[in-house]
Amino acid sequence: MTDIKISSEKIKVALEGRSYDIFIGDGLIENAAQFISPMLERPRCWIITDSDVATHHLETLINSLEQAKIDVAHKILRPGEGTKSFASLGLVCDWLLEEKVERSDIIIALGGGVIGDLTGFAAAILKRGTRFVQIPTTLLAQVDSSVGGKTGINVTHGKNLIGAFHQPDLVLADTRALSTLPRRQLLAGFAEIIKYGALGDNSFFKWLEKNGDDVIGLKPEAITHAVKRSCEMKAEIVARDEREAGDRALLNLGHTFAHAFEALTGYGDRLLHGEAVALGMAMAFNLSRDLNLCSAEDASRVSTLIDRIGLPAYIEAIGRFNADDLINVMGQDKKVVAGTMRFILARQIGEAFISKDVTPNLLRSFLISEGATE
Ligand code: NAD
Repeated sequence: MTDIKISSEKIKVALEGRSYDIFIGDGLIENAAQFISPMLERPRCWIITDSDVATHHLETLINSLEQAKIDVAHKILRPGEGTKSFASLGLVCDWLLEEKVERSDIIIALGGGVIGDLTGFAAAILKRGTRFVQIPTTLLAQVDSSVGGKTGINVTHGKNLIGAFHQPDLVLADTRALSTLPRRQLLAGFAEIIKYGALGDNSFFKWLEKNGDDVIGLKPEAITHAVKRSCEMKAEIVARDEREAGDRALLNLGHTFAHAFEALTGYGDRLLHGEAVALGMAMAFNLSRDLNLCSAEDASRVSTLIDRIGLPAYIEAIGRFNADDLINVMGQDKKVVAGTMRFILARQIGEAFISKDVTPNLLRSFLISEGATE
């Protein structure tokens, strides 16, 4: 990749034979061929996207590739979580086989986490592993799901239960694409950005307290810095622990609570994943405060930032929940190991750790003190 003319930030995900670059910048979709063309063994590409993303960004991507004399075929799927299914996976794999895609070819995921997770999984299993490029178009996908190689689909037993680790060969995070994203989706992605500061970088958290509105307002310098710092942190953690045997679990800060709220609200529009994570993070810091692990001031700073930016920081903000219902769902979480619930707690902002010391009794009184019903 010697001929990149557009200005962008670059981060490397260092994984020996599976290393790749993440580029972050304004206008990367319009210039995608500059990055993708040198990677191709033959001038052909296959794009998978959804109809919402296609309306705004597909033509721009196709134009860039076609101007570089690359033949392009595309598949447009229905937007929404329902697309991360066996049915869509079959559809996509059949299509790619009909198109005679070879292992050395490149498949492009253009969209949010749903398209990225599904396409990545199709790439993982097609001919036992095909190359793919992530072009994330939601803030959540740019700072989280497009990086790190977790791919998969949902099944009746739960979310993300069938999948594979399959790293992309390149990630192009075009901050311009975020201008068409609904505000609620933007805020949901911002929750994941707060997470990086809260779990591992105190000064980034402080920066977000000061510049959060500029990030949400998509001010170029602010959004680029926020996406870059988040990707850097995710890249570092993934490089240390690709398969979540240790440190990578810290990225689940707030997620044990979040998954319980998502499960009880039906994984739908009533509560977006990022909204649930925001509330879950506020609660993880409150629990840390109650256990005398972190200061009341730090817990309050986390809730205040979440609330001020327009995300839920209190249970009442999203509805009424029974403490035992929440605990039951938490017991079925993927993060339960040998029957012990693992929580990500914090000693301060920027210093999260994995705890196995939260018993169901303690959890129950905490949830009730936070507003869950008895
Ligand atoms: P999404 O992919 O459903 O996108 C949200 C909505 O925004 C969709 O309707 C989509 O069509 C639309 N959209 C996307 N980009 C747009 C744009 N630029 N302009 C206008 N509309 C646009 O949701 P998401 O929040 O990006 O991803 C959620 C998924 O990500 C979940 O399935 C979750 O499990 C997964 N996830 C995966 C990882 C991972 O490590 N693989 C991490 C976090 C979340």
